[in-house]
Amino acid sequence: MRDTAGGPRVLLRRLRELMQEPMEPQERLDRIVRDIASNMVAEVCSLYVLRSDSMLELYATEGLNKNAVHQAQLRLGQGLVGTIAASARPLNLSNAQEHPAFAYLPETGEEIYHSFLGVPVLRAGRTLGVLVVQNKTMRNYRDDEVEALETTAMVIAEMIATGDLARLNRAGVELDLSRPVSFTGLSFNDGVGLGHVVLHEPRIVVTNLFNEDGEEEIRRLDASLGSLRLSIDDMLSRREVAFEGEHREVLEAYRMFANDRGWVRRLHEAIQNGLTAEAAVEKVQSDMRARMIHMTDPYLRERMSDFDDLANRLLRQLMGRGPEDVAAMLPRDAIIVARSMGAAELLDYPRDKLRGLVLEDGAATSHVVIVARAMGIAVVGQVKGAVSMAENGDPVIADGDEGSIHLRPPPDLEAAYAEKVRFRARRQELYRELRKKPSVTKDGVAVDLLINAGLSVDLPHLADSGAAGIGLFRTELQFMVASAFPRAEAQEKLYRDVMEAARGKPVTFRTIDIGGDKVLPYFKDAQQEENPALGWRAIRLTLDRPGLLKTQVRALLKAAGGRELKLMLPMVTELSEIAQAREIIDKEVQHLSRFAHHLPTSLKVGAMLEVPSLLFQLDELMKAVDFVSVGSNDLFQFVMAVDRGNTRLSDRFDPLSVPFLRVLKTIAEAGRRNGTPVTLCGELAGKPISAMALLGVGFRSISMSPAAIGPVKAMLTELPLAELKALFDDNLGQPAAGMPMRALLQAFADDRGIPL
Ligand code: PEP
Ligand code: MG
Repeated sequence: MRDTAGGPRVLLRRLRELMQEPMEPQERLDRIVRDIASNMVAEVCSLYVLRSDSMLELYATEGLNKNAVHQAQLRLGQGLVGTIAASARPLNLSNAQEHPAFAYLPETGEEIYHSFLGVPVLRAGRTLGVLVVQNKTMRNYRDDEVEALETTAMVIAEMIATGDLARLNRAGVELDLSRPVSFTGLSFNDGVGLGHVVLHEPRIVVTNLFNEDGEEEIRRLDASLGSLRLSIDDMLSRREVAFEGEHREVLEAYRMFANDRGWVRRLHEAIQNGLTAEAAVEKVQSDMRARMIHMTDPYLRERMSDFDDLANRLLRQLMGRGPEDVAAMLPRDAIIVARSMGAAELLDYPRDKLRGLVLEDGAATSHVVIVARAMGIAVVGQVKGAVSMAENGDPVIADGDEGSIHLRPPPDLEAAYAEKVRFRARRQELYRELRKKPSVTKDGVAVDLLINAGLSVDLPHLADSGAAGIGLFRTELQFMVASAFPRAEAQEKLYRDVMEAARGKPVTFRTIDIGGDKVLPYFKDAQQEENPALGWRAIRLTLDRPGLLKTQVRALLKAAGGRELKLMLPMVTELSEIAQAREIIDKEVQHLSRFAHHLPTSLKVGAMLEVPSLLFQLDELMKAVDFVSVGSNDLFQFVMAVDRGNTRLSDRFDPLSVPFLRVLKTIAEAGRRNGTPVTLCGELAGKPISAMALLGVGFRSISMSPAAIGPVKAMLTELPLAELKALFDDNLGQPAAGMPMRALLQAFADDRGIPL
């Protein structure tokens, strides 16, 4: 084949001129395909655009039958063009008709062309269309020609994305870019968020595509790459990542990629073809992303995402943008969409602007999800593909109740959800009014409603919910969101902040409950265990590593100077553990008093009842402690032998069944018999029907997530407790045949108009 007429740089210059000239979009497209054909010495150049109904429509052609424009169409995956769009990979064929995917479109008259080169029109990894050149002769297009056509396709992607082609669409036809999409993931936190997409790691949109001076662009790129490498080296030498760990591995991978010759070579090539340094980064990354979509190996996908991250950093360097610009541009109703993120990163967003969180990865117990739950926003996880399908600013609904998201929702769906959100808001209003009412049953029995908390973001909930105090402060959360063991000062500060925010309301601090599903990546002593729930965790672990417990107890004692301190020990199995912990606590008290520290006015030590062995020594337990708190999540798991995190079993056994209710009743009675206060702080306390059952078996203090206080109080104030007690007396000893307790309780509430 003859040399191309001027090469890619000349073509890009022509395209730039064409983009600037005022003309109708169809004419512009016609001239673009004509110029590409002549530049590449091809007889045909055609552009197909992907519509929202997954059809690829011929939008412009030079060489094929002009009457086929806006008529000829192929399904995604159909024919050569459909294959290119579906795979996001170019096809370079000397004899197209021999290819198994070839589909002949009679209206185009393309049967006389043999050689075929088609490239996907990509933007941020998404296929928006296909650009094709064809020749009569059988020839192979050279690599630099493939590269040139890809670069040209990028310019067209920009035209599609900026809406330039919208006027060419027939009525009722939408381009794929604005297609509504729904994804199903998993619900990680209830609630519905209506808002606009904020990509956690925003793709920077490059609009300045064509370079004036290639040498200068190469120099800019190399300078930015240099600073990027330096910043990675700098991060790697910082103290907190100096040890081994996941964090370090990621950064090491970044360093390797930033020096990857293949990557740098492709960037240089793109600049030599006429792109700016920014556009070159975008192009190379777009090609990579498109390929990544079809990769199934999770390790490779992960590495490609690292590349993605790196490209974003490089773009920020080149465009002189800092992350602070992102916070400033945050919409009032932000729904953060991320592949994955750290808990601390979520805390960087202003709470009042957040409506939801969507994660491609994540688990219900991941740290960021714990924080999001504390913030009270809807969370949907495991939403594969959300990041690449979403654009910053797209309208989106995060349905945390159903575990789904709706991107660019059609108006009727949006209206239905808006109604749902209004309904929820009205209910919240009702709960707010209840806040001022005393927490007593309809027949005048006082009940303490407390909240569970664990981070400083939870603290405002104490006043907002009108709860009587914090029944469970999970101190391990501070450890879980950190990248290294929190120092003694940081622990003390958090505990002091908590007590100050509580303004004299009681707070029960639980000593760190790590192990099991609560892993600390930086805690190297903990090993993979076959049965983590039954393993080295909670008080078992802290008694073996008394340094951890001592530091924490000292921080708590200091923070509680002049106030009451309530300490609670998790996962106690036998009473000797309480005695050992007390010994450590007493020593710390002595130590502080020797150095004339301001000590707590009183110190109460309690145990969590989570392990069934304690059920057979209840009286001894009640005498050994100042209070007991039932951890119903773990107690149910161990009594019923059912993994609390196993979704297959989550609905199989009912905590409101006779055996478990009897267990709970026995505990409440033992507390009363011994004059030891008993409370319950597992998830069971947070559902109105189970909270009602707890009151029925004798509990007068329960602790739950802040959002549950309203619904539980609404139940409580309508509850005639004496009648409910009678129901339990009648049925718990000798259950009514065939009628499960849950159904009995539901019927009891329905008959009396108690809201559940
Ligand atoms: C429990 O087990 O019920 C409890 C409150 O503790 P956690 O959920 O933190 O294990
Ligand atoms: Mg527990």
